[in-house]
Amino acid sequence: MMKRIIRVLMLMLIVCSVTFLGKDVFMKDLIPVISNQYEDEIEVLASPTATPASTPVVTISPTAVVTQSPSPTPTATPKPTATTSPTPKPTATPTPKPTATIAPTPTSTPKPVATVEPTQTPEVTKEPTSNETKKIAFTFDDGPSKYTTQVMDAIESYGGHATFFVLGSRVEQYSSVILDMYQRGHEIENHSWSHANLKTSDKETIIYEIESTQNAIYNITGEYPTYLRPPYGATDDLVKEVASEYNLKLKLWTIDTLDWKSKNAEAIKNEILAQAKDGSVILLHDLYKTSLEGAILAMEELDKQGYEFVTISEL
Ligand code: ZN
Repeated sequence: MMKRIIRVLMLMLIVCSVTFLGKDVFMKDLIPVISNQYEDEIEVLASPTATPASTPVVTISPTAVVTQSPSPTPTATPKPTATTSPTPKPTATPTPKPTATIAPTPTSTPKPVATVEPTQTPEVTKEPTSNETKKIAFTFDDGPSKYTTQVMDAIESYGGHATFFVLGSRVEQYSSVILDMYQRGHEIENHSWSHANLKTSDKETIIYEIESTQNAIYNITGEYPTYLRPPYGATDDLVKEVASEYNLKLKLWTIDTLDWKSKNAEAIKNEILAQAKDGSVILLHDLYKTSLEGAILAMEELDKQGYEFVTISEL
């Protein structure tokens, strides 16, 4: 079979050579090289147009050439196996995968790490303050008023709570504020009903001032106050005696801001900062805007100094 194929190939080569080089040149130079057995066919193929008479041979040889030529081309198909090199190229498709590694998610993952860091830094800033945990109590007398809610907001922004010594006569009018105080964890204490000077009052008046306020607060919160701050800090044995009958402890202050007198936020702040120490009780009045502002200024500085803002019972 191979022999046959080689033979046909040789014939084709000769035909081509004759076509391009010319019959004469071919005959003279190449034919001697080829074995004798091919000579007859070569002659026929070399001059197909010249000798149309030999048609039978011509028809055979084309068919032979045509049918055989496909098989040589298959030998050229090994080159398609070179097209298997495209398949290595698919292995080059892993390089597209790198483009998949461009996926923004990796770059976004570093960012979360960066967001973790900021959350840690606030904790770091909190640590120095926790080194010295000092407690201080902000107390507000004579309210509630329209500023009371802002007072609660301010102190809560530092995670703290205030103590409100309210007047019984104002409780009903500000019942929603009283309930708010209670629900937000602030302390509601007794400052008498009408801001009477209990030291100069008779026992009946003292009882009325204390008891009516206790009941007014209880009616809203369901709890009785446990501290009494007598107006002006005016007290005596009789006041203490009546107070104890209502399970009330007397509680005054250690820092008098004189806020009602100065009505100056800066002065109030300075007064607080000048006297502040661990366990201090600050006297303010939530009736005045300047008292609220002074308290806020003081809170800002006291917080930096590591103070925790607590209620009287937490002190
Ligand atoms: Zn007062």
